[in-house]
Amino acid sequence: MAAEVTSAREHSTANAGNAVRGDVRTVGGVTENGYSAPLKRAILSYENSHRREDVEHIAVYDDEGNQLSHRKSKKQDEVNLYPKDVPRESLILTHNHPGGLFHDGVMSIGNSFSLEDMKLALKYNAKEIRAVTPRYTFSIKRNGDSWGVTSRQISKAFKNAEARVTAEGQSYADRIGFSKTVDERYHVTYFHKINKLVAKELGWNYSKKKG
Ligand SMILES: [Zn+2]
Repeated sequence: MAAEVTSAREHSTANAGNAVRGDVRTVGGVTENGYSAPLKRAILSYENSHRREDVEHIAVYDDEGNQLSHRKSKKQDEVNLYPKDVPRESLILTHNHPGGLFHDGVMSIGNSFSLEDMKLALKYNAKEIRAVTPRYTFSIKRNGDSWGVTSRQISKAFKNAEARVTAEGQSYADRIGFSKTVDERYHVTYFHKINKLVAKELGWNYSKKKG
């Protein structure tokens, strides 16, 4: 569970042979920095017991590690949260992304945040949103007391990042030639790369760690 802190440098497409190694790195900082001991214990324990679930679960925590609410989806994704589940601002939301469960190899890493995830954090002014897959933990923290943007600005940043990541993936495949490996690496890093770009543009703290 120890997070390895390294530079924010993502493995470049030029060393795709080391893509799996590169993905092991934490980007941007230790995910639980600043947590109280009870919060760290509680949230990591919850995440570890749900990271291999085949439907989405979401939980809301306060700084002291109290779980204020918990919901389970009936489907693989789209778990819902309701206003009564989030009694105040600046709480921490965590949920699992089951997608990686259904793949072997590099694809088992699973996906980083969707646009809907980012908007959920904004809607409730949560201080952080986390997502866990069977092998990884992703986190986005706001900077300061608010996310500093509108829902529309998030959509725009996300859309621009999507276009850039898609174009870069296409240009890489054109150069290297299409293969299953190239395709898998493109898909498994797709949302991660988008999150990095969006977080950089909007001034958020995005990180990813193994475990
Ligand atoms: Zn999600």
